[in-house]
Amino acid sequence: MIVQEKNQDAVGKSESKKFWKFSDILADPIVKERWEKIRKYFFLRESTYDMTRKCNIRCKGCYYYEGDKQYAQDNRDPEAWRRLMRAENKRGITYVVLAGAEPSLVPELCEICYQEMPLGTIATNGLKYIPESIGYRIHISVWGNDETSRLIRKAKNMLHRQVENYKGDPRAVFVYTFTRNNIDEVYEVVKILGEHGCKATFNIFSAPVGYDGDLKHTTDSLLYTRKTIIDLMKKYPESVLFSSYGVVAHTHKYGLHDLYSCSYPRMNPSKDIGLGRSFRQYRADLTWNRDTACCVPDTDCSDCRHYAAGSAVVTARLFRHASDPLTFSAWLDYVDTYLAVWVMGYEKGKNLCNELVAPPGYGVF
Ligand code: SF4
Ligand code: SF4
Repeated sequence: MIVQEKNQDAVGKSESKKFWKFSDILADPIVKERWEKIRKYFFLRESTYDMTRKCNIRCKGCYYYEGDKQYAQDNRDPEAWRRLMRAENKRGITYVVLAGAEPSLVPELCEICYQEMPLGTIATNGLKYIPESIGYRIHISVWGNDETSRLIRKAKNMLHRQVENYKGDPRAVFVYTFTRNNIDEVYEVVKILGEHGCKATFNIFSAPVGYDGDLKHTTDSLLYTRKTIIDLMKKYPESVLFSSYGVVAHTHKYGLHDLYSCSYPRMNPSKDIGLGRSFRQYRADLTWNRDTACCVPDTDCSDCRHYAAGSAVVTARLFRHASDPLTFSAWLDYVDTYLAVWVMGYEKGKNLCNELVAPPGYGVF
């Protein structure tokens, strides 16, 4: 979430060697307006919660069933969850991500979280409808067309069932995960989603620790994914929630940690500031462990391009993007997109920057 790094270079240099003050960058009224729009959300402080260790399907490459978090016993006591949410609120958490394994299998616990903490997102496979009284954003994972889902997730007619459950639901965002093998299939998926008025965003498969299977990306597949997302943004502007800077950040040959230095506790030794201080990843038994805490635990950091990771890692780097108007506009688009994907009721604006802007200190790929 938007926990900002310390101001190391609030005034930077553009490629033309001109120094830009932040106030000069904001002199453009369109940039200023977008900045005012997104900065209202700087109060968001996130933690994540495994609601249950159970899932109704079993996907290849699932990071939940890596590491020891999968062995935590479920705590199904509603009052224990209510106490946890109240305690979380007291320590400054304002936004929750309910994940797991599969949160839709414990709707009564999700309901309690929503009663105590009204901002958040549920990550689900979308096969079981989550009651509409739970007003979180709902991210529905899509890993390809139905044939691919049948092979990788061992579930039949998956997209059809997901769309039937969530078409017309303002909470829903479909998250298409690009693996090395499903890139072209995204066209049929986004077309179907568009026909049903559903919103789509994109994730890049990030390998769990030790995974070396055929879902893992290569340099070629990252470049092809990049080209494909750019094309989809043009073809389906009403359905697709994404930005040009998101394309660069998530399909770069370097992962998010290399590009931006990940701020989650697992990779951030600082216990005093930002996410390093506030973020916790609770297991299904309500325990947590700072050494493994991040939004996608047991993902290989060197391969991490996960959309949930970017929502914190890239958005936190305001100051290093406040170097010139183009770079700052690219970053504003990223944050605007992330808020539209993660916060109920937030409407994405038109992207300000359609160029591929390089992450500070790196090339464009
Ligand atoms: S639906 Fe999610 S939690 Fe369940 S096996 Fe698949 S990736 Fe893992
Ligand atoms: S997996 Fe990603 S989000 Fe988690 S600590 Fe590593 S780089 Fe950060």
